[in-house]
Formats: sequence, C-alpha cells, structure tokens
Amino acid sequence: MSAESVTPFATKKAVRPVQLGYDGNYIEIEGFGRCLDANASYWYKILGHNNPELIEARNRDTSGSHLYEGFIHPEALRLAEMLKDKSGFAQVCYALSGSVANDNALKAAFMYHRAKGRTNRDVVVSLVGGYHGDTELLCHIAGFDYATFLPQRDISRKIKPPYMPKSEKEVFQRADQLYSLIASEHLEDRIATFIYEPVMGVRGTVELPKSYLERIKEICDQHDILMVGDEVTTGFYRTGSLFAFEHTGIKPDIMALGKAFTNGEFPMSATLFSEKIVNALDNLQERYPQNRVYIFGNTLAGLPAGCLVAQKVLEILERDDYLAKVQEKGVYALSRLSGLKSLSTVRDVRGNGLMITVDSQDSHLAETVQLEMRKRKVHLIPEGRMIMFMPSFTITKEEIDYFAENLEAVLKSA
Ligand code: PMP
Repeated sequence: MSAESVTPFATKKAVRPVQLGYDGNYIEIEGFGRCLDANASYWYKILGHNNPELIEARNRDTSGSHLYEGFIHPEALRLAEMLKDKSGFAQVCYALSGSVANDNALKAAFMYHRAKGRTNRDVVVSLVGGYHGDTELLCHIAGFDYATFLPQRDISRKIKPPYMPKSEKEVFQRADQLYSLIASEHLEDRIATFIYEPVMGVRGTVELPKSYLERIKEICDQHDILMVGDEVTTGFYRTGSLFAFEHTGIKPDIMALGKAFTNGEFPMSATLFSEKIVNALDNLQERYPQNRVYIFGNTLAGLPAGCLVAQKVLEILERDDYLAKVQEKGVYALSRLSGLKSLSTVRDVRGNGLMITVDSQDSHLAETVQLEMRKRKVHLIPEGRMIMFMPSFTITKEEIDYFAENLEAVLKSA
C-alpha cells in the first residue's frame, strides 16, 4: 500500500502516519501505538470513538429514503424540528460537509439580496486567519492562500480579528475596520455578508468579544449586510454552550453546522436559515416560478442514517448533561495548562470550554511538539504554531492531567 494513492491534504507532507484503529478516547497510530486522542479525530468525535449508541442509531435505518427532487422523510423532519427548537432558526438545509454548509449559507445570502432587487452584492467579508471550507467559492474566502492557483475573483475582503486585544478601544477599532473598508472602497452596495466563527478555530481559539460583534452587527444592520455564523467547529457544546453565539447573544442571520453534528458517524452538515432568509427565498421563487431557487441539492444530504445519528447526538448531550461536563472539564483543563504561559516558548494559553489553544512560538516548535507527544502516546494536530487541545467530551480528568503533564515536559525540553 502506498500513501501516494490518496491525495494529500493542503500540503504534501513527507510522512503521513497510518491510523490503524480507534476506541473511546484513543487512536492507534502505526509506529506509535495506542495514543490519547487530544484532537477528537478532527474536532468532531465529541462523544468518543466507537460510541455504541450512535452506531446503533446509524444502523437502524438503511431504507434509502432521501430528500432529493421533492421528497421528504420523517427523520429529516424530526431532526429539523429539534434543531429549530434548540436554535430558534426557522429552517434547516442539509448537506454533507462543513464546507458545503457554508457554501450554501453564502448562496442563500447572495439570493437574499437578489430578492431585494440588489444585483451587485457579490462581496464576502471574512476575518484574517478564519477558515470556512474548500469549495471553490470558499477558497477565495479562506484566511490563507487557498485560492492562489484558482481563477481569480474579486469577491473577498478581509479584516483583522481582535487577537489578544489590550483594551476595549482596540476591540472597537478592529470592528470599525469593517466600517473603514466600506467607506474607503465604497462597498456599501457590494457587500453581501460578513462570515465569521464566533470562536476562531485554526486561528487558535480566538473568541470574538461581545462588544466586537455588537459593533459589527450595528454596521451590518446599517447596510443590510447579512451575518453568517460558521459554527462548524464551535457548535454542539464545544465552547461550553450548545452554540457559541449564545455567549454573546449576537445571533447570525444564517448559521452553518457540521463536524460534531453526527460525531462523524455519518457525513452530515446543515445550514440554518432565519425567518428573513426563508421569506426572501420564498419571495424569489414566487417571482420566478420556473427557476431553481433552492440550489442546495446533494443526493445524499439528509439521509435517514445521518438524521438518526444527529438526533441521538443531541439526545445524549442533553440526557447526560454534557453542558455541565464540558464547562467543568474546560475550566479544569485551562487551569492545568495555564501554567505553561510562564515558558518563553509560549505566547498565550486560552480557551472556551473544551476548545483550548497553547499559542506557541512558531510552527516548527508545534511540529516538534506533535512528534514528541506521539512518542509519549498523545495524538494532537497543531494548526501552524497553535497547539490545540480539542478532545472528546468523554475525556477524563486523569487523561487531561496526562496531556498537561506531558505537554509541559515536552515544551520544557524543546
Ligand atoms: N468551518 C470551520 C470553522 C472549520 O473548522 C471547518 C473544517 N475544519 C470547516 C468549516 C469545513 O468543514 P469540512 O471540512 O467538513 O468541509
């Protein structure tokens, strides 16, 4: 078997270790053995690997009912009701990945403006260091060089997030960059949306403060710019609340979900539309009855198996009080890791719930840490210089201790 037969992710790495198995909070890595999974696979195994209840839910229905070309089925309806009930959004649009959930969010936002008769709202504003996915559209929106080798399109503008702000004034100034951008480029009639992660993931747990989002919302409201909240990573208790928007109370017009949605047992994501988006799409359809307004169709999106698992995830999270568990374990883990701030190789340690980042000196150090931690039977995946701790919610205090002790030892000797 050759690793060459599978396309690499993002950059071609010299060595791609083979993941041989998984169980509970552990994965088996070729050459390293059974390692504590401090990454919850890729931030989605919130209820651990091989969760029997979820596997049972997934296997319950394989009948092949689908949502394509006008069909609907009970499990998709049941899940949509649960999501609407918990989030307050008006409609659920299913897809298969976080990327497509965000892509659908942007398409809906563009169409919202078309419904209002605005034909040139084609610009998306996002945050430097943000990540929203890898569809062609989203490559242009990515906070890094994803679109370098693609056809160039003038559809994206970026502003800097408030990263480790020293004062409220700085937070406000960062939010006002949106205002300055509109003014300097006369973009008031071109910006369709502002897309953001309420707590930025690959940027290293950068929480957008309430005052920041309040000012952004104020500017968006002035120009009828829609807010798209990308909660692909932060949704489902990761930050210590069901959705991260609950921390600030600033609710986006459209919200994208993915990753933990099904604990990865079945590929599934969703875009949640607020009432005003649903009304705009309906209005467009009424005006253009012959046109395909709802271009959100993936053959396999919303299959019963995925809907059953997603329902079960929500049920378990509530039944077993994971809200309290994530909050408690998050506080514990952050206090265990905060001591690392005294090391010269560490710039900061910050966290929201079980989304914790040790912001290190550089990416070279973070890669060394990854390798050394594997030798100590801990699996983590750094994001650039960010050493991420985003485990399954089933992690124990002893496992958090094990992670913290080993990371400290590795950083001290690095
Ligand atoms: N949004 C965010 C915030 C993400 O972290 C990711 C994936 N890391 C995505 C979107 C894309 O999701 P997917 O990989 O499932 O397409």
